[in-house]
Amino acid sequence: MDKNIACIKGGRIILENEVLQDKVIVFNDKIIDILDIRVYEESDIAKKIYKVIDARGKYVSPGFIDVHIHGAGGKDTMDGGISDLRTISEALAENGVTAFLPTTMTMEREKIYKALDAVRSARSESFSGAKILGVHLEGPFISRKRKGAHDENHIVKPDFQFIENYIDIIKIITIAPEEDPGFRFIKEAASRGIVLSMGHTNSDYETAMEAVRNGISSATHMFNAMPALHHRAPGAAGAVLYSDLSFELIADTLHVHPALFQILLNAKGRGKMILITDAMRACGMRNGCWDLGGREVTVDNDSARIADGTLAGSILTLNRAVFNMLKHTDLEIHEAVALASINPARLINMDGTKGSIEKGKDADLIIFDERLEVDLSISEGRIIFEK
Ligand SMILES: [Zn+2]
Repeated sequence: MDKNIACIKGGRIILENEVLQDKVIVFNDKIIDILDIRVYEESDIAKKIYKVIDARGKYVSPGFIDVHIHGAGGKDTMDGGISDLRTISEALAENGVTAFLPTTMTMEREKIYKALDAVRSARSESFSGAKILGVHLEGPFISRKRKGAHDENHIVKPDFQFIENYIDIIKIITIAPEEDPGFRFIKEAASRGIVLSMGHTNSDYETAMEAVRNGISSATHMFNAMPALHHRAPGAAGAVLYSDLSFELIADTLHVHPALFQILLNAKGRGKMILITDAMRACGMRNGCWDLGGREVTVDNDSARIADGTLAGSILTLNRAVFNMLKHTDLEIHEAVALASINPARLINMDGTKGSIEKGKDADLIIFDERLEVDLSISEGRIIFEK
C-alpha cells in the first residue's frame, strides 16, 4: 500500500468541457490519472491505493478558487494574524473552496502591511483548509467617488513604492485607473506580472479603454462600485463589455440582478467571467453587527451593509454562486463550475497547476450534490473538509 495514493470513484466527474461517468480519479498530491473503471480494476495501481472515496453518484468537481474574499468564519484578512487566515481557510473549505486570495481593504498603511506580512508567513505554513495562493490588494488606490465600504481617509494615489516589498505575494490589485496619471503604476505593476483589475472607479469609457491598452486586464465586481452603464456614457462597465477584459461577478442576485448573468455571458462569452464572493467575516456566521475594514456592518439573511445602506461585501459562498448561475442562466454544470475554477486560475496564471481535473495538476477536488451542497473538499491531495 502506498500511503499517498487515493482514488475517487462512483462520481460524475466534471472536466473543463464535459462530464464523465464510470471513471476513477487516482491521485496523491497531484492527479495521477483518470481511468476507465475496468481499466482501473485490472491495473497495478489499484493495488497501491490506501483510500477509496465513493462519490455515490454525486459530482466530482475541481475545487473552487476565490480570488476576492475578505473574510469568513468570523475573521478578516485585515485582522492581520496567521490564525485569522487559518480560520478563514478552514471556513472556506466547507464551501468547496480549495484555494483563495485573502483580500485587503483600504486602511492605514501599517495595517495593510501587517495583513500582507501575515499572508506571506501563512503561505509557507500548511493549513488544514483552503490554500492561500497570494493576495488581492483591494485599495488603497481607488476612487473616493466610488469607495463603497472602503474608508476614504486611507485612500491614496497609486504609488509603486507602497507595494514594492510585496510583489512576491500580490496577485491582483484593484485600482481606479483615472487616479493613475499616465498609467505609470499600472504599467509598472503589470510588467511585474501582477493582474491589474479596474474597480472602485469613476472612470469614463475613454479613460477605461486607454487603461486596458496600458495593462488593465480585469475588472473588480462588475457593475458594483463603478458608474452604471449609460448609453451616452458607457464608463468602465462599457469598457468591460467592449474589450476582452476578464471580470469578477458577485452572483448573489443582490449585487447584480440575475438577468445580467445571462446578458454578461452572451456579451462576453464563458471564458471571461470569474465568480467571486467578496465575502466578509460574517460569512457562515450569525446575523447582527460585524466589522469590515474598520466600519460597522449590519448583516441579515442576504446582505451586509454599512449604516447608509451601501453593500459592504457579501455573505455569499462560492458554491452558492455557482448554483445561482445554474439557476439563472442556460449554463450546464461544467460550464458554471469553470467560472469558479479554471477561469480564476487562468486570471492569476495558475492554470498550469490548478483549476481543472487534469492529469498532472494539483489534486484539488470536491464532491457536491445537485444543490451544490459540498460533502468533501480535497486540497493538493489532503482532505480539508468532510461532512
Ligand atoms: Zn470592493
